[in-house]
Amino acid sequence: MDKFVCKNCGLCCKEESLNDDKTEYPRFSPNSYIYYYHKPTLSLFEWEAKTLQEEAKKQGFNLTIVPYKVIYDQKNKISLVIQYTFKETSCPFFKENKCSVYNKRALVCQLFPIQIGSISDLISGMNEFKISICPNDMTREQWADFLGARINTKEFVSNMHERYGESYLALLERDLLLKESNDWAKYIVDLGLIEPATPDLKVEKIKNKIEKYPQISLIDFMIKHTGLNALGFIYESNDLKHAKLFVKNLNK
Ligand code: SF4
Ligand code: SF4
Repeated sequence: MDKFVCKNCGLCCKEESLNDDKTEYPRFSPNSYIYYYHKPTLSLFEWEAKTLQEEAKKQGFNLTIVPYKVIYDQKNKISLVIQYTFKETSCPFFKENKCSVYNKRALVCQLFPIQIGSISDLISGMNEFKISICPNDMTREQWADFLGARINTKEFVSNMHERYGESYLALLERDLLLKESNDWAKYIVDLGLIEPATPDLKVEKIKNKIEKYPQISLIDFMIKHTGLNALGFIYESNDLKHAKLFVKNLNK
């Protein structure tokens, strides 16, 4: 596959590109206890939100961080936040048609031009596959050819890595972290540490509770209640070690 070359047009950072999510907020994820509280301009992990808040401070403005993906725990009357976003509908770091926090940008930005939910979406076929808004990326027809070639997973990963390099690693890293977060949530539910609100409760009712009761990050909850070395995992993840290892092992 040809290597993707970014032409630095800036389109992927523009407001209309960051706000193309037409789903309703707040809402529950189907068949799950994950609650989508606020429409994300960028979906951020806790440490990414903190980094961007610090960068905003350095640049002389405040960034209002709000929960994006939440589990409301009825047992302890707290919200466990899985991911965050900011209230602004455009990215305040996009200045003079470029990113002013390029070396500190979040994984969701590092994976541009890829704009997909997960590797499984891609592998499961074209129906669920979201084509990138990037004018220099592959068209739907080119993707259909690529996916229709019925290459195995190893070849798929290798081709994606060859074409997108670090962006593909960022995508993998983000997927691995999201999977890890979901596993953590399931683990504390199974242990009976939390009792998540489920879609049979009214969306508005949960929203009010999220606003009324304390919000804590899922990671902080895990550290406090299970002793899990979540922080170690996350700091290691920041340099994309996990994704690189994943690609290396698949390519063996
Ligand atoms: S943080 Fe940077 S890369 Fe991400 S949307 Fe904003 S300007 Fe673009
Ligand atoms: S990834 Fe695509 S849309 Fe984004 S700046 Fe590069 S060329 Fe433009």
